[in-house]
Amino acid sequence: MKIYNLAGLATIAFQLLLSAFLAPPWLGPWWGMAVGLGYLLISWFLGGVYLSDVIHLGIAHRALDYKRWFIKAVTLVNNTVGVYIDPVSWVNRHRLHHQFADHAGDPNKLDSDGFWRTMYLCVFPYPCTANLATDAILKTWPFRLVSHPVFMCISPILSCGLLWWIVGDWKFAVGVWLGVRVFALWVNMVQNYWTHDRRFGMRRYDDERDNAMNIGDWLPVTATFSACWQNNHHHYPHLLRTTHDPGEFDFGYHTVRVMSRCGLVKPSRTGTSKPDDLALAEVSL
Ligand SMILES: [Zn+2]
Repeated sequence: MKIYNLAGLATIAFQLLLSAFLAPPWLGPWWGMAVGLGYLLISWFLGGVYLSDVIHLGIAHRALDYKRWFIKAVTLVNNTVGVYIDPVSWVNRHRLHHQFADHAGDPNKLDSDGFWRTMYLCVFPYPCTANLATDAILKTWPFRLVSHPVFMCISPILSCGLLWWIVGDWKFAVGVWLGVRVFALWVNMVQNYWTHDRRFGMRRYDDERDNAMNIGDWLPVTATFSACWQNNHHHYPHLLRTTHDPGEFDFGYHTVRVMSRCGLVKPSRTGTSKPDDLALAEVSL
């Protein structure tokens, strides 16, 4: 089994064990595991729609045009009850990451950074050398609110407090809450480490300028909402999808298509601009 799959399964197993061990007596270990897994699934889905579908493809790359109220609502909900990620600094770091991928100036990781160094950088990234996040939507009140340092500090109290209010046991709530953050760290490592090290995954495009790799296994693709097709994505970052062949599994694309049918999103002008060498017949939703 590939090391990144094993690590992902281990974080889910850790969440199940933690949930069973800390479950209050009235809940019992089996229902405790059900609650722990359910909390992980809800947090994962909300976080995937927020970060991968909306903030990444919708704002950072402008490949998708979402309804503005939907962007703001998802941003408020995820950062209040889900895994907190400051959208304004994330967009800036991500644009710098594409500009300087794996070289000086990339806030996520340099070519020489190993596993533990990259994990440290997931929490404390390199300083940004420029401000590329000047979009009008990032200056609206929901974005200014959630990116404020005070909100960043109270967000864990809000999300963990809601869980404590639902389950009524603070040890169980804190444990299950932390277990989801361990899973989220693995998701972050798939993008920042395993898909940016040439020893893992495959390459469709032999780009010398970065170490971006494609990882197409179902677990990381599902967990990251398809953000682990990094070699494809770095080659054509303007496209509304990260898979470049009908045979490549693309969970994130399916979620965007469902939102498109609900009238929440449509392709941007650049999102469907198909390069001549793409294996897909067309790029659409
Ligand atoms: Zn990107």
